[in-house]
Amino acid sequence: MAYDAALKELSALLGDALTLSKSDLDLHGRSESHFPPTPPDAVAYPTTTGQVSELVRICARHGCPVTAWGTGTSLEGQSQAVRGGVVVDFSRMNRVLEVNQADMDVRIQPGITREELNRELRATGLFFPVDPGANASLGGMAATRASGTTAVRYGTMRDNVLGLEVVLADGEVIRTGTRARKSSAGYDLTGLFVGAEGTLGLITEITLRLQGQPEAISAAVCGFERIGDAVAAVIDTIQMGIPMARIEFIDTASVRAVNAYAGMEFPEKPHLLVEFHGSDSAVAEQAEAFGAIIEDHGGSGYAWAQKPEDRSALWTMRHNAFYAILALRPGCRSVVTDVCVPISRLAEAVDATTADLEAHGVTGPILGHVGDGNFHAILMFDPNDPEEEARATAAASRMVERALKLGGTSTGEHGIGIGKRGYMEQEHGAAWSVMGRLKKAMDPGNIMNPGKLVPEPD
Ligand SMILES: Cc1cc2nc3c(=O)[nH]c(=O)nc-3n(C[C@H](O)[C@H](O)[C@H](O)COP(=O)(O)OP(=O)(O)OC[C@H]3O[C@@H](n4cnc5c(N)ncnc54)[C@H](O)[C@@H]3O)c2cc1C
Repeated sequence: MAYDAALKELSALLGDALTLSKSDLDLHGRSESHFPPTPPDAVAYPTTTGQVSELVRICARHGCPVTAWGTGTSLEGQSQAVRGGVVVDFSRMNRVLEVNQADMDVRIQPGITREELNRELRATGLFFPVDPGANASLGGMAATRASGTTAVRYGTMRDNVLGLEVVLADGEVIRTGTRARKSSAGYDLTGLFVGAEGTLGLITEITLRLQGQPEAISAAVCGFERIGDAVAAVIDTIQMGIPMARIEFIDTASVRAVNAYAGMEFPEKPHLLVEFHGSDSAVAEQAEAFGAIIEDHGGSGYAWAQKPEDRSALWTMRHNAFYAILALRPGCRSVVTDVCVPISRLAEAVDATTADLEAHGVTGPILGHVGDGNFHAILMFDPNDPEEEARATAAASRMVERALKLGGTSTGEHGIGIGKRGYMEQEHGAAWSVMGRLKKAMDPGNIMNPGKLVPEPD
């Protein structure tokens, strides 16, 4: 085995918390997306920062790759150990370490999931708003700079991480940031590690800002005849300064999928799903103003869900849309796309994508975080049909080309991993090689999640 000497030392350090069992290796070799499985050589389950630091020191001495694992829900193969080595599963480092109610912040270990965190915060009147749908770990969310349905109101992980504890590629432990809400003290290292996908270091603690639980929440759905009308309604809502907490778009094909999967009966046309947070009176005012806007754009069937169970059914339906779409063709896999464009170009980008998919015979329901200009087409293919897979992959490439031409990005929230690495040079130009130089300076042995995000070292 390639890393025998490292594994021997790691086993002495971790005992049973280092496993070579086939089922564990297989489980940590898979992803939610279409990339082939890549089982690592071992999986480690550390419980302390000290263990993580020692683990990395051992791996650095032996040149053994180290890939962090939160819950493995990333969609671009980020948590797959494509060069083998050790996967570090953070699920046993999942405690809340400190809640500061007055300052509305919390210090946590990276393995806690967003649902677990919000359950622990329930009694405090506070909550953590970033919601990627999947019950991801906060370490994975920080590492992919995740966002999701609520980013239009509360921002992404970039806006919500105040500080980190990180184990660097030589095992040294550093802290970045403070609990202050702002700081001009030097390089923004917190921002550097947020979105680095574990290529620069392993996050062992995170300080997050929290929000007050809103007094009132109201959610609604509304149908439109054309995608362009739905997007125009969103642009007007943003321009009028109506503070939406979420605003999601699902196209006709996605509506068909969720109707079939969740037993819903939405009319088969494009829909917006929206939510407002605030005081009773503010939410009522926002709902009324939004109602007037959608009327102007031909929206219909505007129905409010004020009861928590109805709201929860609505968002569960949205969060399960990915699985509902896959269920349209049992056994199929998908290329999940994630482009993001300036909001004024969104209708154009969605229309062009729909036309392109039709022209090339690719099935790809579209849904997205319309308030941010971010949308996904779930491009389905039969894993036993290489020609269909090639068509789906080519359509995904054209989506990226189009997004870049419209002033957008190849990925609004899922990140780079192995799936989007091929577009980095086109999107960033010479700045991509600066990322490579930073990586080389911080990880000269190229052991932290190698084969992802940055150019290959010379
Ligand atoms: C149905 C579905 C819907 C989704 N919707 C969204 C969405 O709306 N918005 C969105 O942003 N994402 C979405 N995702 C993608 C996914 O949930 C996010 O990428 C999430 O942030 C990954 O978290 P994770 O804990 O699963 O991380 P993993 O997949 O385990 O890891 C992701 C990356 O983070 C690194 N990493 C993990 N933990 C650490 C650590 N402690 N230190 C350093 N690096 C670490 C890994 O090495 C890897 O590179 C969706 C996924 C699914 C399956």
